[in-house]
Parts: sequence; C-alpha cells; structure tokens
Amino acid sequence: MRVYLDHNSTSPMREEVRERWLEVLDATGGNPSSPHLSGRRARAWIDDARARVAAALGVLEDEIFFTSGATESNNLALFGVLETAGDAAGLVTTAVEHSSVLGPAAELEARGRPVVRVGVDSSGLPDPRELAAAAARPGMRLLSVSAANNETGALPDLDGMARELARLGAARPIVHTDAVQALGRIPVRLADWSADLASFSGHKLGGPPGVGILWRRRGVPLHARAFGGGQELELRPGTENTPGIAAAALAVELAVSERDSYSRRVGTLTRELWTELSAELPSLRLLGPPLTSERRLPNTLCVLVPGTAGQVLVTRLDLAGLEVSAGSACASGSIEPSHVLLAMGLTRDEARAGVRLSLGRSTTREECKRTVGAFHDAFATSRAT
Ligand code: PMP
Repeated sequence: MRVYLDHNSTSPMREEVRERWLEVLDATGGNPSSPHLSGRRARAWIDDARARVAAALGVLEDEIFFTSGATESNNLALFGVLETAGDAAGLVTTAVEHSSVLGPAAELEARGRPVVRVGVDSSGLPDPRELAAAAARPGMRLLSVSAANNETGALPDLDGMARELARLGAARPIVHTDAVQALGRIPVRLADWSADLASFSGHKLGGPPGVGILWRRRGVPLHARAFGGGQELELRPGTENTPGIAAAALAVELAVSERDSYSRRVGTLTRELWTELSAELPSLRLLGPPLTSERRLPNTLCVLVPGTAGQVLVTRLDLAGLEVSAGSACASGSIEPSHVLLAMGLTRDEARAGVRLSLGRSTTREECKRTVGAFHDAFATSRAT
C-alpha cells in the first residue's frame, strides 16, 4: 500500500464530493445561461454553490467568483486590481509566494510596473512592519501576501499586518491574500486581515481540480482578464463548470465545518511524525517556524535532508511507496533550489535538499510509521551513492 503525504499539492477527492459531482453531472445537461428547464436546473446548482461558499466564508454571495483554479484567481486579482489604477500603480508582495503570484508579479514588472518583494526571516515569515512600510510607498496600489506558505507551512502575521496598514488610513493599498493552503486548516478571518480579495482552490480541499474561487469584497475595483460573456458579473466570462462548481462548494463547506477537529487530529499526527523521524534520523532539520509555534500549518513538515538533493530523495521515496514533494524543481535536467528556502537564507545546496511532507484527511498513524521506515531506507541508500 502506498502512502500519500502530498496533500499540499492536491488532496484526493472526498467521497461525498465525488457523489455530488456525479449527481450534478448526471442531472444537468443544460447551459446555466439558457432559459429552458435544463439551463435553469444548472443555474440553480451554481446559485446554490455560491450561497454555500459565501456562507462558509462569511461573505456576500455577489462577492464570490468561480474560476478555473487559484492560479487564475491570483492572476485575476493581481492584474485585475492594478489595471484599474494608473500605469505606474505598483504591487508589494513577498519573496516566498506561490509561483501563481510571483509569475504575474514578474509579468507586471516586465510591463513597467513597480514591484517590491519583501524578504522573510529564517523561518519564512515576513515582518508586518516591513510589509506596511513597502505598501506605504507612493504609487503602491496592491499588497498580496499568502495566508499560509505551501512549502513550509509558515503563517504570516496578517493580523499584525492589518494593524500596521490601518495607520496608513486612506492611503492603504488594496489587500489580496492567497488563502489556498489556509482554508480548512486555520481560521480564515478575512475581516481581521483587512483583506479585500482572497483566492481559494477546490482540489486542495478534496474537491475537484480545475475549480477556483476568488472572493472580492463588494466595491473593490477589478478589471476582467477575459471578455465575451456575461457570466460571473462579467468578471470571469465563459460557460460555468456546473458539476465542478457544485462539488467544490461542498468541499469548501465540509472543510470549514470540520476545520477544528481535522486540524487537531492532523496536528497531533504531524508532531508525532516529526518526533519519530528526527529520532530515527537526527541529522534532519525542520524548516519553517518551530513545531510548537502557532505560526505554522498543522499538516506540513518541510525537512532538510543534509547532503541529499530533495528531488533524488523524492524519487527514492516514491520507489519505496511514499509520495512526498521536493521544494526544489527539476528544470532542464538540473535541480533548481526552492525560491522559498533561498529567501529564508539557506545556501543553494541546502535549498535543493528540502523535502515537504503534507498530511491530509486520509492520513493514518500507521502510514506515519511506514513513512519513518521509508525515509530511513531512502536516506541510507541516497547517502551511499
Ligand atoms: N497558491 C498556492 C499557495 C498553492 O499551493 C497552489 C497550488 N499548488 C496554487 C496557488 C494554485 O492553485 P491551482 O492548482 O488551483 O491553480
């Protein structure tokens, strides 16, 4: 039996969600924009999904936009906000964002807009005062900071950031947060964070891949990135993925209602796993905030395996039946170090040696035990070569 500890990449579809997906797929042949019965049935599912997501997030229904995934939600937020401002309006973000934020940031910069990437400390956290100071620079229109880092599980102090931003009064920029890894794991407190926009992804929650959500506070100016249809208040036109949206809404609803008990259970498993892994292999180093810190996701362990390239170890672990992920990416034959670990001050070699274990709803104690065994075997072999 294989062990899957890569839930930050994607989390397998939950059974209830799969059933909803199939139910809607079978029940709705129509286009939600069509006025006939089949179309109205499809529209009812979309309306129902929007109401469920809005209730789960504690926001208004007309503030929810369905997209193809968080990558699209992040692109829509970044380009969409800045395109409503002048050509010189700029972006502040951090050096450790997901590529779906750093990619648009680089493109905005290439098109001539100022972009500031605030650094992080050795545990991967940006300083709220530094973020606010960068956001206070003239012309900075948008601040984008993720609520939880996908590689390290570090949780930036968004409450502290909101307090600092409050001092800026009317000069405060619009705030976007990529909350993909936060939803269902920590409380997503959009108002306390002074957030104006937030991105979510269905497949991280046991929902279907290919469905994202963008929350946009009513009245926050946003331009569309695609044109040609009236769907989603013209901000995200195109025929809706009715079964996917209905299924994703259920996944969001379940993740939010079960968050407390799930986080406690997975937190205990994660801490136990680290205790056992580090006892077995004392040279392993835990990256990110300390295990006891409140500034980390309950399910994520980012581990430095000294002297080994993470990608090599991941391949060995895969052969041993354990599925985890390396922070580093393999690009054209060479192993590129993780930008997150580099920003935390690790050397290029160290940043190539990071391995991420991310637990999920299906993870059991028995699987954690097998993980320690697989690590032991893979580590011993990769040291020998
Ligand atoms: N943001 C973060 C923090 C993520 O972890 C991911 C998925 N790896 C995304 C955005 C992109 O989400 P999607 O796959 O839905 O485009």
